[in-house]
Amino acid sequence: MFDYLIVGAGFAGSVLAERLAKVCNKRVLICDKRNHIGGNAYDHYNDAGILVHKYGPHIFHTNSREVFEYLGQFTEWRQYEHRVLASIDGQLIPIPINLETINRLYNMNLSPRDMEKFLETVAEPREQIRTSEDVVVSKVGRELYEKLFRNYTRKQWDLDPSELDAAVTARLPVRFNRDCRYFTDTYQAMPLHGYTRMFENMLDHPNIKVMLNTDYHELEGEVAYEEMIYTGPVDEFFDFRYGKLPYRSLHFKHETHHTEWFQPNSVVNYPNEHLYTRITEFKYLTGQVHSKTSVVYEFPRAEGDPYYPVPKPENQELYKRYKALADTTVGVHFVGRLATYKYYNMDQVTAQALTVFNKLSGGQRVPAASRAKSMLYPVAAQRGSRLTVLTDVLPSSTTAAKKKEGGEKIA
Ligand code: FAD
Ligand code: UDP
Repeated sequence: MFDYLIVGAGFAGSVLAERLAKVCNKRVLICDKRNHIGGNAYDHYNDAGILVHKYGPHIFHTNSREVFEYLGQFTEWRQYEHRVLASIDGQLIPIPINLETINRLYNMNLSPRDMEKFLETVAEPREQIRTSEDVVVSKVGRELYEKLFRNYTRKQWDLDPSELDAAVTARLPVRFNRDCRYFTDTYQAMPLHGYTRMFENMLDHPNIKVMLNTDYHELEGEVAYEEMIYTGPVDEFFDFRYGKLPYRSLHFKHETHHTEWFQPNSVVNYPNEHLYTRITEFKYLTGQVHSKTSVVYEFPRAEGDPYYPVPKPENQELYKRYKALADTTVGVHFVGRLATYKYYNMDQVTAQALTVFNKLSGGQRVPAASRAKSMLYPVAAQRGSRLTVLTDVLPSSTTAAKKKEGGEKIA
């Protein structure tokens, strides 16, 4: 008999499994229909021995000290500040839009004040900022919108920015300085040994049983449990009673090249060329030293695994109907990006799961800092030791991994 059946071993499911087992001594069965833990953040060493993210680039960043310290119990961190270049008019220019972007794109030498004045002349003020088009055009005008946002967004979502909630393109700020970082969060780092190792450490607890290759429907009538935590798509849980909630999918094309580096930056975006949106080269993210290099191309598509909830008003209305059902489904808790239909980053899902845990546990907590390993490795020092560290962790060798590989029998 389990206290909890947790469906999905991504951030939402794994955080809750760890907290409920460790703090409340609950017996937890966590299942995932995939053959691995980690959800979409799963990473692994490919045939060439390069650490890659199976489901596209995952860069950790947060302003929440609580989240950073909580996760720091299960991983050491490698300091990493993400930067993105976009291929525009034959040049690679930094985004989000900042002083460098404008100067390089237009071959100018503006000061921050000049940039403000320049954007004032091109921006199209909008009375109300409702859509993703409004956000961009009202700040930087139509030309930059078309060069950088319109086609990328159409590719990514198969929708015009004018059909998408403002929040989507508002993820990218406009800066009047030379700060080319993609994020400005207080904490920006990558798990030193990768996400999967971090998840293995989270789930390595005697009260947690992991079942992979298992859809939770297969457990119905086979396993007794008190309550369920569900982190899959919410519409699927209710057999699409009100119709399908749109989720956007991607096809990932992974490649390994017999050269040390493939492109000049971790991520290059292609707003206007090609069917893919971006190419990511993993060694920049992980710091791994290797004579070959691995990259992934992202091709957006409608069919396939659900990756992105699609933020637009009618989808939100449909989600509200599912949420009302979820709220009245006794004994099931809906958590995570797919189950709450929110375009959440990893830290937001972690925070959401910690909040749900606080509710479930009535506020029992173990101070995260008491075990925190949230030390940041200086990039230079860590680069030097990188090869040893990575070969050291090649096969999954923790107890948690062995338990999973053996296809844990359930009580
Ligand atoms: P998921 O990771 O989706 O986990 C849900 C799990 O439930 C899945 O493993 C699934 O197999 C399982 N499941 C579903 N249905 C069933 C069932 N019936 N039975 C059993 N198991 C089931 N966030 C960032 O912070 N930074 C980034 O750089 C970033 N980049 C991203 C890039 C891409 C391409 C994508 C798609 C997402 C990115 N994210 C990023 C978001 C991040 O992936 C999510 O915030 C996070 O993984 C969500 O965790 P989750 O547990 O809610 O869901
Ligand atoms: N976006 C764009 N051009 C870019 C980068 C982003 O138009 O070069 C828009 C696009 O709509 C995208 C959104 O901004 O979906 C958010 O970008 P982000 O990089 O945060 O997306 P994610 O990493 O979640 O795919």
